[in-house]
Amino acid sequence: MGKVTGFLEFERTAPLKQDAKERLSHYNEFVKAFEKEEINREAARCMDCGVPFCQSGCPLGNVIPEFNDAVYQGDWELASTILLSTNNFPEFTGRICPAPCESACVLGINKSPVSIEEIEKHIIEIAFAKGYIKAEQPLIRTGKKIAVIGSGPAGLAAAAQLNKAGHEVTVYERDDTPGGLLNYGIPDFKLQKDVVARRIDLMEKEGIIFKCNANVGVNVELNTILRDFQSIVLAGGSTIARDLNLPGRDAKGVYVAMDFLKQQNKRVRNIPFEQEPIMATGKDVIVIGGGDTGSDCVGTSNRHGARSVMQFEIMPMPASARTNNMPWPTYPMLLKVTSSHEEGCERAWGVNTKEFLKDADGNLRALRVVDVEWEIDPSGRPLNFTEKPETERELPAQLVLLAMGFLHPQKEGLLEKLGVELDARGNVKAEEGKYQTNIAKIFAAGDMRRGQSLVVWAISEGRETARKVDEYLMGESKLSCKDGIPFA
Ligand code: FAD
Repeated sequence: MGKVTGFLEFERTAPLKQDAKERLSHYNEFVKAFEKEEINREAARCMDCGVPFCQSGCPLGNVIPEFNDAVYQGDWELASTILLSTNNFPEFTGRICPAPCESACVLGINKSPVSIEEIEKHIIEIAFAKGYIKAEQPLIRTGKKIAVIGSGPAGLAAAAQLNKAGHEVTVYERDDTPGGLLNYGIPDFKLQKDVVARRIDLMEKEGIIFKCNANVGVNVELNTILRDFQSIVLAGGSTIARDLNLPGRDAKGVYVAMDFLKQQNKRVRNIPFEQEPIMATGKDVIVIGGGDTGSDCVGTSNRHGARSVMQFEIMPMPASARTNNMPWPTYPMLLKVTSSHEEGCERAWGVNTKEFLKDADGNLRALRVVDVEWEIDPSGRPLNFTEKPETERELPAQLVLLAMGFLHPQKEGLLEKLGVELDARGNVKAEEGKYQTNIAKIFAAGDMRRGQSLVVWAISEGRETARKVDEYLMGESKLSCKDGIPFA
């Protein structure tokens, strides 16, 4: 433990952010790094609890008190070794994780939790800067070949671990660049794409082969993959967006969020795209869906120079502090104010959309909405809603972005041709902890298996799946896993 009285002496600090007005003029990250003393103080706040709830709160089982101590001692090499023993990509989670570890931090019971996510980001960035992160080829190759389909965080984590075990790994990606939603989806201002490219470059140097523009089941023959590889990991994500099929849905100006966000990722890097450009410039924008994807649409719309930005959510407004139904150390579903909200956005809860209204040329001109009242059960769960009388109204909008989550993976092509079983929600059926599908040599990880989730869960599933594939091919595995010895 770094400093025994650290948690009593120091308050939580957050690194400075560029002023909201300034950051709207670009698409780069805008959170500044901590000064040396600040990061040292933040690490000193860790109490090194006998039972580190932060560690079990993290889907990766990150060994948090130990790396906090190493940071406090200024031993960045040790800190990065500890961090990388459970997390292949702390540079991603250190930027965009909702940090369930911090919700489980014991300090959080009556004080602000330790800034674990920020510490994680500093450890990995300092490790890169000091040259501790080097491409490491495995000493022995097993001669076994594995295809990973999908290059999001789940596929990347599975590939990294399987390569470590000495297998020959080829990652197939249907997009032009690897990274999945890290690359196309999550805005550049949350996660700059040079950070993703730096990791892919390292993985290539470690011997992993990436094949882009390779849509397995479409322009890459499935039979070839089945013939050439001893095992396959399906990590294709959950890509079918929930739509809102109301009258007027065909109005020009209504888009699913991913079309808007992916285009912007491409625009930032001057990558051409075929679809018509979707711009928020000078428009009244309404984002339907109150989650992270919606918030990313808000930040992007403001950077485009929208006239006004509104974000709706049909559910009631969440509590701003823990309630009896969300006791510590569970992950609480609290009201979230993101950096994109800080940049300017009107938010509304309990609003239901009834119709997209068009002008004579078929362009969207407004939304017809109504306020709703929710019946809530004693555990705090919303049950059903009724419309509030006399609240129906029209709201002007020339651009509506649908950000209401994702239903399941795409079935046509890859999954249908493979004939893997799906679960009741339409995700690939593979038991948690085993990750094996109904076809013995095929495994599944990440959003394609668990449904729409988080980067940290995708990395966790990729790692755990790699271990199961390794066991399947070799009879045993020395790859570390959540329940194993983290330093192995
Ligand atoms: P994905 O990242 O979806 O990657 C799947 C990849 O598989 C894609 O590149 C796809 O092109 C490829 N693929 C699919 N089928 C084929 C095929 N047949 N052949 C070849 N390639 C194929 N989570 C967070 O933790 N923090 C955030 O801030 C956050 N923000 C988000 C913002 C947005 C806009 C969205 C949509 C999600 C966000 N998430 C966030 C969720 C997170 O990005 C996902 O949970 C995570 O990326 C899932 O990883 P994955 O590897 O399972 O799938």
